[in-house]
Amino acid sequence: MTVESADVVIAGAGPNGLMLACELALAGVRPVVLDRLPAPSDEPKANGLVGQVIRQLDMRGLYHAFGGDEGPPTPAYGWMFAGVSLNFLGIENNPMYALLIQQPRLVRLLEKRARDLGVDVRWGHALTALHAGEQNVALTVATEGRAYRMDATYLVGADGGRSMVRKSAGIGFPGATSPIVSRIAHVHLPEELLVAGRGYEIPGFGLLPFGHNRFTDGTVIAFPLDPTRPLLGSVEYGWTVGSAEGPMSLDELRDSLRRIIGADVPLQPPKGPGPHALRRIDGINSRQADRYRAGRVLLVGDSAHVHSPMGGPGLNLGMQDAVNLGWKLAGVLNGWAAADLLDTYESERYPVGQRVMMHSQAQLALAAPGPEVAALRELFGELVGKPDVTTHLAGLLAGSDVRYDVGDDHRLSGLMVPELVLDDGRRAAELLHDARPVLLDLSGGAAEVAAAGWADRVSVVTASMADGPAALLIRPDGYVAWAADTFGADDAATLRAALTRWFGDG
Ligand SMILES: Cc1cc2nc3c(=O)[nH]c(=O)nc-3n(C[C@H](O)[C@H](O)[C@H](O)COP(=O)(O)OP(=O)(O)OC[C@H]3O[C@@H](n4cnc5c(N)ncnc54)[C@H](O)[C@@H]3O)c2cc1C
Repeated sequence: MTVESADVVIAGAGPNGLMLACELALAGVRPVVLDRLPAPSDEPKANGLVGQVIRQLDMRGLYHAFGGDEGPPTPAYGWMFAGVSLNFLGIENNPMYALLIQQPRLVRLLEKRARDLGVDVRWGHALTALHAGEQNVALTVATEGRAYRMDATYLVGADGGRSMVRKSAGIGFPGATSPIVSRIAHVHLPEELLVAGRGYEIPGFGLLPFGHNRFTDGTVIAFPLDPTRPLLGSVEYGWTVGSAEGPMSLDELRDSLRRIIGADVPLQPPKGPGPHALRRIDGINSRQADRYRAGRVLLVGDSAHVHSPMGGPGLNLGMQDAVNLGWKLAGVLNGWAAADLLDTYESERYPVGQRVMMHSQAQLALAAPGPEVAALRELFGELVGKPDVTTHLAGLLAGSDVRYDVGDDHRLSGLMVPELVLDDGRRAAELLHDARPVLLDLSGGAAEVAAAGWADRVSVVTASMADGPAALLIRPDGYVAWAADTFGADDAATLRAALTRWFGDG
């Protein structure tokens, strides 16, 4: 059997695997992406992206192509926490962004970009076995009734929550399965039920408002994202996990809604072209891989963490994993990375995953039935009116409240670069389109001189900016690695130390 070689094989052409493939390709590494499906899935899943990942799309010049409005991304004025409305108007440096995009479209756009960048994307190729050794990972791939072998220098599991890569690499997936069942479907509802801008008037019940509605016996979700086929869903607690039989049906959803609101919702199958959502989640998993890396095997996205989809944090977490990992893995393969650079993938991203586990479980708890939870929601509603609490929640839900330990204590270091606008009108985000690190020299050229040894890896942008720092070192993922307000002899030394730490010897 012939054995193919590749620097990186990515198992899974979902949004996170493809995002990683694009990042690697921008850094000069051409991965092979395998997916066992014959073609991109049309299954409705995510309806949008939420949080800081939208700024990262903007940094790659993808914000508008992926459906963003004209101009730079603008922060969202609010969001939901367990169905409780949060108002982010007026909070300083609001980090919350939102972008409506259906997952199948996102995957197709990323696949096209990956192919345009020279990535080898193989649909209908399933990874069936792996053996991780010291020097490489030996893979067996099955396609069209035959099998072939590949040797990968690195294997990345982007193969979803049931990840065979994670299991085969012996990486544990601790966490909890909550006894909760959720059901969601695209439906058709009679036009006369629509109360414009408010909800649906359900006979025998009354107004069912748009959004998450918590009742004594569960939650009902009504989202008219596509008014011709609104999404209707339910969440019921106290469920026996594994007791659901057969595929989900609209009758099952109708019964569930009746149990919660005590009335029959006159829902019908959606009329337009599909595929339509019709999904039961039988037990909600909140689980995180106990390691993101085992030698030459790494995990990104759902293979590393699964949680309730409430509030839509999944792709903010997963795509930022991919952007964090891409340049580091490329640095190793391109020969310049320090020995421990790859370790910072887990040390930086694991705590962000923990925050998502925490808040998605907290949201499940706050949406649970019972009078005690009703009282807790009332108290929570009072607290979210307080500016400090709102700011705290905005950072938590946007995924911006974990500051990476970059070894520099400037107030900007370890955080995503703020929306800086240079005197020539360029935004900091626009400097990162090609995913190279950027030394933004606002010191009149002194920082550029100090960084001369890294010119092959680090782009230097000399510019001016009113009230700006003297210099900023921005990693390809948009995070500030080092910054200085004035640039003196000491700063040249700390800049060089930061360049060495993140981009190898100069
Ligand atoms: C109902 C629902 C609503 C959601 N809403 C949102 C939302 O609004 N916003 C949001 O951000 N997130 C949302 N999510 C979460 C989001 O859909 C996931 O986080 C996302 O799909 C994870 O992407 P991924 O690339 O990690 O994995 P996946 O999308 O699961 O992709 C994994 C890929 O790996 C392939 N694969 C598996 N095994 C193998 C193998 N052995 N060999 C080769 N290929 C393999 C699969 O075919 C698949 O294509 C929602 C999820 C659900 C279920």
